[in-house]
Amino acid sequence: MKKVVLLGAPGVGKGTQASGVAKSLGVNCMASGDLFRDHLSRETELGSKAKSYMSVGELVPDEITIGMVTQWLNKGEQTNGFVLDGFPRTIAQAKALDNVLIIGAGSLDRVIHIVVPVSELIERLSGRYICTKCQKPYHLVSSPPLIENQCDDCKAPIYQRDDDSSDAVKKRLEVYEEQTTPLVEYYLGAGLLTEVDGVGEIDDVRASIQEVLA
Ligand code: AMP
Repeated sequence: MKKVVLLGAPGVGKGTQASGVAKSLGVNCMASGDLFRDHLSRETELGSKAKSYMSVGELVPDEITIGMVTQWLNKGEQTNGFVLDGFPRTIAQAKALDNVLIIGAGSLDRVIHIVVPVSELIERLSGRYICTKCQKPYHLVSSPPLIENQCDDCKAPIYQRDDDSSDAVKKRLEVYEEQTTPLVEYYLGAGLLTEVDGVGEIDDVRASIQEVLA
């Protein structure tokens, strides 16, 4: 199982799990939100197109997102496999992913649907801080950094994303419900979906995911 999608609402822990899962599979992981934030910080044309959608918690239009992710997928080192975090988020994106993989003579191995109740998602997202450099996530209550405002690993400052403000969080959860939950049916129909409980210790959730992928 080397071609894996992590599906789930904002705050279920996709980002926390993706790099560990990718490491254990020996493949790269791609978080579409991180790719967009990288474009934003480098002030590229794509970044300026994405900015207005991201800041209010809306999805960046499919044609922009699909173009960006396809470019990443078509890099040589991805032919062995990958872990995708935050992509696809619409049926059009899922179909585009299928097409890219058909052309590359492969298909997805598994879609892990991480599930957490909405009340817990709101609490997780509103206390979330992220390292400005390595993107490591923290939570002010449940997993604060050892030194205030500083990443434990790379010592860079941590920050709260604009779209983790309460209005944007509400919008992102609505958008997820409307545009991304149809993917559950899509991947169930394809026989690819496995649900994993995202509530509990990070290591326990990781173990459940590893079990599915073993
Ligand atoms: P994330 O870091 O995954 O929560 O993504 C942050 C923001 O980036 C989202 O709220 C969207 O505005 C944008 N974004 C990330 N991935 C996608 C995607 N697959 N499709 C459209 N917009 C996306």
